[in-house]
Amino acid sequence: MVFVFGAEDGTLYDSEIREILMPDNFTLEVMGRFYDAKYVDTEEQLFGVTMDVIEHTLHHELGHALIHVLDITITGKEEDAVDGMATMLVILTNQTGSEIALSAADLFDLEGEDIKEFTTEDIWDEHSLDFQRFYNTICMIYGSDSTQYQYLIKELEITQDRAEMCIDDFQRQSKSWKKLLQPYLKDKTILN
Ligand SMILES: [Zn+2]
Repeated sequence: MVFVFGAEDGTLYDSEIREILMPDNFTLEVMGRFYDAKYVDTEEQLFGVTMDVIEHTLHHELGHALIHVLDITITGKEEDAVDGMATMLVILTNQTGSEIALSAADLFDLEGEDIKEFTTEDIWDEHSLDFQRFYNTICMIYGSDSTQYQYLIKELEITQDRAEMCIDDFQRQSKSWKKLLQPYLKDKTILN
């Protein structure tokens, strides 16, 4: 499997040639969106949050690639499954993983604001709505550390009942992905 940066197409996993394609304009678009929204104060921070999104996106495409190449069994929408896998992997394999996932969540939120009126295409699209992807990612972040991220639940006015489910969701999704990926890991400790 090959990662192609500066690709013409993408961002996507091309199953015919088994390549993950990441075009430069995706990076620029992400950076532009954070810049326009005045999401951060400094250039260094802008670079940082953009790299966070690239990392999360690469994990998302890696999810598609693993499902295809390893013929991994999943149920439900593949896009939702790989969003969950990306968030879980980013959180569990980085010291600042939750903050990386938070940048990715906030980008979904900014993208969601683009839509002034939902079309049928938005509804039948293979991806969940951007706002749903935002809340799903926030849910995973909270679920991974409910003490540290209690403030998100408060800020977003998510009920405590719903938030409790996020803790179960994170554990269930992590357990499932660990089980699915463990046989293929050279270093079995990486997802402990
Ligand atoms: Zn996808």
